[in-house]
Amino acid sequence: MPHDLPKSYEPGAIEARWAEYWIKEKLFHAPTPAEGDERPRFSLLLPPPNVTGRLHMGHMLNQTQMDVIIRWHRMRGDLTLWLPGTDHAGIATQMMVERQLATEGKKRQQMGREAFIERVWEWRRHYGGAILDQMKRLGASVDWDREYFTMDENLSRAVREAFVRLYEDGLIYRGKYIVNWCPRCETAISDLEVKHEDVPGKLYEIRYPVVGSDEFITVATTRPETMLGDTAVAVNERDERYKHLHGKKVLLPLMNREIPIILDDLAQPEFGTGAVKVTPAHDPNDFQAGLRHDLPQIDVMDEHAHMNENAGPYAGLERYEARERVLHDLREQGFLVGVKDYTIPIGKCDRCKTIVEPRLSTQWFIKIQPLAKRAIEVVEKGYVRFTPENYGQIYLNWMRNIYDWCISRQLWWGHRIPAWHCANCKEILVAREAPGKCTKCGSARLEQDTDVLDTWFSSGLLPFTSLGWPEATRDLEAFYPTSLLITGFDILFFWVARMIMLGCWFMSPPHKPGGEAAQTGDEALRDSVPFREVYIHALVRDADRQKMSKTKGNVLDPIEVIEKYGTDATRFTLAAMSSPGTDIAFNPSRTDGYRAFANKIWNAARFMFLNLDRVEAEAGERPSLADPDIADFQAVTLEDRWILSRFHRTAGVVGDALEAYRFDDAARAIYDFFWGEFCDWYIELIKPRLTPEAGGAALVACGNLAGLFEASLRLLHPVMPFITEEIWHAMYDGKPPLKSIALAAYPEADVEQFDLAAEAEMAILQDLIVSVRNLRAELKIENKLRVPIQVFTEDPAIRSLVEQNQGAVERLANVESITFVESTLAKLPGVRHTARFDVHVVYEQKIDVAAECARLRKELERVEKDIAGCRRQLGNEQFLAKAPADVVEGLRRRLPELEVLQEKTKSKLEELGCK
Ligand SMILES: [Zn+2]
Ligand SMILES: [Zn+2]
Repeated sequence: MPHDLPKSYEPGAIEARWAEYWIKEKLFHAPTPAEGDERPRFSLLLPPPNVTGRLHMGHMLNQTQMDVIIRWHRMRGDLTLWLPGTDHAGIATQMMVERQLATEGKKRQQMGREAFIERVWEWRRHYGGAILDQMKRLGASVDWDREYFTMDENLSRAVREAFVRLYEDGLIYRGKYIVNWCPRCETAISDLEVKHEDVPGKLYEIRYPVVGSDEFITVATTRPETMLGDTAVAVNERDERYKHLHGKKVLLPLMNREIPIILDDLAQPEFGTGAVKVTPAHDPNDFQAGLRHDLPQIDVMDEHAHMNENAGPYAGLERYEARERVLHDLREQGFLVGVKDYTIPIGKCDRCKTIVEPRLSTQWFIKIQPLAKRAIEVVEKGYVRFTPENYGQIYLNWMRNIYDWCISRQLWWGHRIPAWHCANCKEILVAREAPGKCTKCGSARLEQDTDVLDTWFSSGLLPFTSLGWPEATRDLEAFYPTSLLITGFDILFFWVARMIMLGCWFMSPPHKPGGEAAQTGDEALRDSVPFREVYIHALVRDADRQKMSKTKGNVLDPIEVIEKYGTDATRFTLAAMSSPGTDIAFNPSRTDGYRAFANKIWNAARFMFLNLDRVEAEAGERPSLADPDIADFQAVTLEDRWILSRFHRTAGVVGDALEAYRFDDAARAIYDFFWGEFCDWYIELIKPRLTPEAGGAALVACGNLAGLFEASLRLLHPVMPFITEEIWHAMYDGKPPLKSIALAAYPEADVEQFDLAAEAEMAILQDLIVSVRNLRAELKIENKLRVPIQVFTEDPAIRSLVEQNQGAVERLANVESITFVESTLAKLPGVRHTARFDVHVVYEQKIDVAAECARLRKELERVEKDIAGCRRQLGNEQFLAKAPADVVEGLRRRLPELEVLQEKTKSKLEELGCK
């Protein structure tokens, strides 16, 4: 039966077909391992894309790297799990639905919470699967049967459980935090909902008297009304101007309150006076400085941005009215020392365009130190390893300076905080399920907290909640800790760090489910980590190394790239450019090159099939092709021994490279082997052995070719899964021994098959053949012309090597005959010298007279046309008057040159006797 492979390689159809097949056959489903299943495990969590997301090049890179690694592990016999899912993405999704409502003239506040949330679910049912559908097209070998959504009921229950346990551990508390506040909408709004713009404004310089001296410190502000809430003035420790004031106090004008002078990096000597006012209740940076120095937080405004009782005589004034009054009074009392024009960055409410006010509000926090302590220890001890290594240090620096984590968000879409407020006695009850009545006063008037949890809280729990925590599931036991996390630097702190903190907390005693409580100390810590390794991938930039952005218009849509070049070529490009720590300048011309690589493989497969079918027909029996196996490879000739050795070496290089996440080295090794050695040399060398005259040798050659081809497909499969699957199935006439090449064994290097002698000998023959090819190109010898060569070598082994392989050299270098000469060819033209031999291409200028005449006539025609043009311009008075002097000068010089060329061409034509 003939092997079936269409004449031309069309990735689109092939890829869609296999992507669907893999899903339909559930090939990448990781069953819960049975007791006693001791296969090595390899598990990987897909960083869950936002449910609102669309695939971008960063995802494509991330998923290519994960898919290469997981396919490689699967082929090595590991029980592999790649767990997919989507994130509910609180704010992004809520805003998406609000925008949709706006087009219908509706607002979420009018709908009410319950109806709005129902609307979000509806949106999610319709549109939430888009990004995973795109992933399916990429052929990502994830376990689709385990797909989760972070708001699924079981995951939501786990989130409540985690919150309650942290609360019971004494790690959750309520406290003040600074948020963006819209005085018109009367709500806190997230950073994403604030639109920033620069507007012209004023910078006011105010001087504060130093207590116990006649000195002043001058500070500057664009919002002078906030000075009423100042609780310190900061200077920088290295600022010489203020050395003598360290430890002193200033008197806050208008309020007559003594506030300390503190030393903090908030104050930069290079800016203005180098001193800044600190208002912890009304500025996010000041808020952090306030925490560092334990300063009081004095809130001087209410929820409508009117001044409150803390603003003393200004209480009741609207904020901008208060500003005018404060300025007036400061000026009167001699504290206002300067007013400058200044560009002010302001933030406006995305919905109502009101200027937002930073404001203190009560929020939920996680006391982070106990979690951070473990998260530092596991990285210091190497229980979690980073690639590139420097990210480990970046992580540790951040973790050592971490603040408590504000986990509440004033949104409707998300995991609602499992806390209930008693309307009667104000008690707050934290519970897994809604309590019936207040535990303190017995009142049934309980209302659930209106806030939801930060999205990163639930995604930080995913490595274990996605496997069934808090239940002691077999999956949790089998696949946790996961083996690897591949993600980008942008979410190192948001997500990676949180997963480590929460994993180490919840997956060690007393929270770890199951009977492992016996595990203690270091052992417990080591196995509590969410993943053993983290690979931080680089950015995908455009071909000019510019960051891709919508405003620059240089964003590449991976789906468009795939449609043009195929997924395999796109994946190969990303792998080939993935060197740890180096950004990728994605140039589609490279993808075009890898499309050609895929084409080369396709054509090689077709060549192989053509020969297999013919040899099979001639021999009347099927060569060992029904079940090609590189283990049956018969190394009969030098090229056989050589390619087998090269194959095993390549398998070794690829394995080592993937072990170290050197995707680029792995891709290069496969490319060089498959195209550079297997297609360009081996297949060319064995061609005579495939001819009908070769007889029985053809069967052996076919067996070798098929065995090697099959093994090479397996080597390539993790990077180019589609084309390898297609050809592999064709090799078995559609009846392969396994459902997919993805389940076949990955080639391992067998050092027994390394053949140094064969590699050295092949290197000499290749050197000779390439030398002759280069000489032919330099001498412009026509392709069809065979030429004799002379070889000089002092090494009899080389001479006999060349003699033994004379036919191959003659064929591949287009050589008529080979003569060995006894002296060096150093002085002759057309010579290439190498350390081992010299080679001379014997070639006398033999030319095709007719073709040369035609070329010369064309040349003459062109020259004469140019001469006519020059003469016409130089004879045109008008032109000469107008044209720049150097142009005219150029024409004058050019004419005689053209005339000389005309003469030379004419005499050559005569010499050759052209008509
Ligand atoms: Zn607003
Ligand atoms: Zn109560």
